[in-house]
Amino acid sequence: MTAKETKKLEANIKEAAKVLSQSALNVALTGAGISVESGIPDFRSPGGLWERYDIMEYGSISAFRNNPEKVWKMLAEIGDTIKDAKPNRAHKGVGQIEQIGLLHTVITQNIDNLHQEGGTTNVIEYHGNFKTLSCLACARTYGIEKVDSEMPPKCTCGEILKPDIIFFGEAIPPEALRDSYELASSCGGLLVIGTSAQVTPANTIPGIAKQAGAGIIEINVEPTHLTTLVTDIFLPGKAGEIVPKLVDAAKELVSQ
Ligand SMILES: [Zn+2]
Repeated sequence: MTAKETKKLEANIKEAAKVLSQSALNVALTGAGISVESGIPDFRSPGGLWERYDIMEYGSISAFRNNPEKVWKMLAEIGDTIKDAKPNRAHKGVGQIEQIGLLHTVITQNIDNLHQEGGTTNVIEYHGNFKTLSCLACARTYGIEKVDSEMPPKCTCGEILKPDIIFFGEAIPPEALRDSYELASSCGGLLVIGTSAQVTPANTIPGIAKQAGAGIIEINVEPTHLTTLVTDIFLPGKAGEIVPKLVDAAKELVSQ
């Protein structure tokens, strides 16, 4: 980055902090990009999970119901990457923005629980959470560490457990949809981090927020289709580098 680009980025970070501090309600929309620095690769990236496993054969709820042993071959891989992952500077930074009163809710497409572990209390999860497993037969629940003791992990009733994620063919939780649409249509600032928001229902959030008059702040490594369509302030870079800078700038404004 040239000196001129660095200066521009700094000015834009200040501007973004101003947008957040002047709005009564801010929302963040996050995706795979925010967890990459925690060692969780984007399942959709080249060489990623969805290139190596057929989505319908391994990722659908009917596949799981028909042959959970087989689907757990793929799930074990997700479990391995998520089980010991720790929140990075971006997750913690987002938690701090909530703490200083400038963030109402995080809407995430991730299933890794890292926002909660990074200090965010209000999290809407579109795709569920892999840190817990449930029994479809008797509804008992277990922690992810169950995968360490047996594969596939089983309930005490004998049934193979299902991670609490939303499989393809399963509905996004209706309250997650309702709450996220409500927040998007009433927010004054939307922070998009580590996602190009191309998958439904996340793809609708930036447009709804924009129509409601929200300032759209985007943090991504590369520009996305959002950048030209809806973004007001684009902050290029890794989430773990940009978010802490945004936190600093926001803290300065709040303390004034
Ligand atoms: Zn059971």
